[in-house]
Amino acid sequence: MMDDAVARSELVELSRELGRPDRRWAVLAEGNTSIALGDGRMLVKASGASMAIADPTDFVAVGLPDVLALVDAESTSTDTPTGPAAVDPVEPPARPTADDLAAHGHDGPAVDAPVDPKANAPVDPAANALVGSAADAHAGGAGDDEAVRELFARGSGPGGRRPSVEALLHAVCLALPGVEAVGHTHPVPVNALLCSPRASLLVEGSLFPDQIVVLGTDPLLVPYIDPGLPLARAVRRMLAERLASTGSVPKAVYLANHGMFALGATPAEVLRITEMAVKVAETILGSLPAGGPVFLSPDDVARIDTRPDELLRRAALAAAGAGALPTSPDPATSPSPSATPATPPTPSNGARP
Ligand SMILES: [Zn+2]
Repeated sequence: MMDDAVARSELVELSRELGRPDRRWAVLAEGNTSIALGDGRMLVKASGASMAIADPTDFVAVGLPDVLALVDAESTSTDTPTGPAAVDPVEPPARPTADDLAAHGHDGPAVDAPVDPKANAPVDPAANALVGSAADAHAGGAGDDEAVRELFARGSGPGGRRPSVEALLHAVCLALPGVEAVGHTHPVPVNALLCSPRASLLVEGSLFPDQIVVLGTDPLLVPYIDPGLPLARAVRRMLAERLASTGSVPKAVYLANHGMFALGATPAEVLRITEMAVKVAETILGSLPAGGPVFLSPDDVARIDTRPDELLRRAALAAAGAGALPTSPDPATSPSPSATPATPPTPSNGARP
């Protein structure tokens, strides 16, 4: 079990790295981080807190089984998702603008914020095919919102602070084998692709060996769904399907028109995954005017994914990740008692769905 103070310290460090203003991975109150405490609870960033200036009081403890039970429950909503009566005409748009974020400090709609059931966006066809009917996935409503509100009110932290609805996705990720820390960001290069018709380039192949070492070969792309129970349910289902088909957990989950989740064994791995995902996105964007990306062949990918020296590099990175983040000089945060020992990665077959 992880000491609460150590966990908070590690989350502060990770949050400040992910929220560094020069990186533009999370501006204002965007993004959030979480860590498994090892006792069935997670610590997750409170809604409205800025990652760039996070402090130990910015994180609240939430019970994972309670969240997962809600995610796995049938939707309690009887609302018609497209019905005009479901929308309060005086409420602001559910997809927050920069002004909304500045005014309310929300990283995505908070659990007590109204959610526009009509909100929708063009969905990458490839991603849509993966999730089945995105329209079905949008069918959350007032009953679900109320259930999340009640759950998070129970787990509210000092001063009544609550997680945002994105905490549901953190719980879904932390429930996966080997995932002990999660970071959610909206990096500009990643979002440039996720907000384009070419979002699937992020998951269609591998461009260079370091991408395979850090990000693995099977990142997941999820179509746009409003943050909340419908999105958490869709991602939980897609991750379970991916785990069943490849035997490994994706390191990165890309959410169309939204951002990314990095799933790590340690906070340091979360930072590395995010860094590499940004580099991959920048590389793809850079390649487009030059004719588009050329992916490694499946044979090359499979060979690199299982090459002994690449496995060693991965193990070395994992071992480095067992300590503090590379930029941290603070010995108080290292080493982490929750750190997962370096284990050889599960080779994937390099095949694309
Ligand atoms: Zn987000």
